[in-house]
Amino acid sequence: MEKRTTTLIIGAGGVGRVVAHKCVQNKDVFGRIVLASRTLAKCEEIQSELPEGAIEIDNVDADETQNVIDIIKKYNADIVINVALPYQDLTIMDACTATKTDYLDTANYEHPDLAKFEYKEQWARDDAFKEAGVMALLGSGFDPGATNVFCAYVQKHYFDEIHTIDILDCNAGDHGYPFATNFNPEINLREVSANGRYWENGKWIETKPMEIKMVWDYPEVGPKESYLLYHEEMESLVKHIKGLKRIRFFMTFGESYLKHMEVLQNVGMLGIEPVKYKDCEIVPIEFLKTLLPDPASLGPRTKGKTNIGIVAEGIKDGKKRKIYIYQVSDHEKCYEEVKSQAVSYTTGVPAMIGAKLMLEKRWYKPGVWNMEQFDPDPFMEEMNKQGLPWKIIEME
Ligand code: NDP
Repeated sequence: MEKRTTTLIIGAGGVGRVVAHKCVQNKDVFGRIVLASRTLAKCEEIQSELPEGAIEIDNVDADETQNVIDIIKKYNADIVINVALPYQDLTIMDACTATKTDYLDTANYEHPDLAKFEYKEQWARDDAFKEAGVMALLGSGFDPGATNVFCAYVQKHYFDEIHTIDILDCNAGDHGYPFATNFNPEINLREVSANGRYWENGKWIETKPMEIKMVWDYPEVGPKESYLLYHEEMESLVKHIKGLKRIRFFMTFGESYLKHMEVLQNVGMLGIEPVKYKDCEIVPIEFLKTLLPDPASLGPRTKGKTNIGIVAEGIKDGKKRKIYIYQVSDHEKCYEEVKSQAVSYTTGVPAMIGAKLMLEKRWYKPGVWNMEQFDPDPFMEEMNKQGLPWKIIEME
């Protein structure tokens, strides 16, 4: 008898919840679904939202490769969808090569003690994945993820050469708290308090945090101040998009969010070095995380929309062209469907889609790959079917 496909999801946070719900909606592809995380209670909560028997749950501390190997073997998993934190990427990847299991994640590796992320160490595992005959798909969330696929899609269908890309990420949701982050606060705050960076004419240009801003009129949302940040998908896109001269990433932030960030930064609450407090050591940003609302709790309170897309300019048949592709999600509709707000939803759905294409062997090559290295068409079709319909505009 043929073995039934087994999908192991690691991480039961906001994104893990969406991935679990979406895999269950596509059970014919994902087969037996196991959700494992550090805190079993979070897995139980997600399990209770789904039809009885839809998923199994387990406990794993993915900081140790051996623990991940054990759980992969326990369930004889075919694929691991890693939606824990970026800190666990390497241990989970190593467990996948050791057990010859396919791997997918949504965020690139970051060392817990160094606020820096890059693909170097994950790309360095390419040979190990090839030797094991299995595949790793990196960054299959929205950005990175869908945004990389948007770039590949316009490259394939709209341009002979792309000269500039701006990735535009707007979350116009309102959760009613004075300050909260929409995904893991530690990861989020580390990202936005870091220096900005963009790529032009073959070089990275560094900016101070929030130094460059512009107003962009986001369809279905309206004009919003958008700030230049470094974002991980640019590292792979500069390698894979032909003729590219410049790529930048912009994200919207409200005034209140920025004011809180400035104060927290000034008083040292975003620090990642331990400080001594009475008899113990505290890492300020980790302590702050314990005070802030759990991103998962924002779901029922968040109203408004997200709009994430890319604007590309370049040449087709000798003429200049400017194309905008974007996707709009509504926080309340996402919550209605999978009990998570749109930031988790727009990350979890592409994670499910990437894994679905791998299991169906529509996207399949041994080795370590970024999203734009595959044919974008099946992914774009799945987005329309799985709850992330997108639009494309010819701007001039
Ligand atoms: P959460 O903090 O809500 O969830 C993370 C989950 O991982 C928690 O359940 C946590 O367990 C679990 N976890 C943490 N450490 C371990 C460990 N050592 N072993 C096992 N489980 C562990 O984060 P999100 O769901 O918001 O984000 C998940 C991932 O998605 C992150 O990597 C994030 O960077 C990425 N992301 C990507 C985006 C994209 O567009 N590409 C956008 C948003 C997020 P516990 O409950 O015990 O803390």
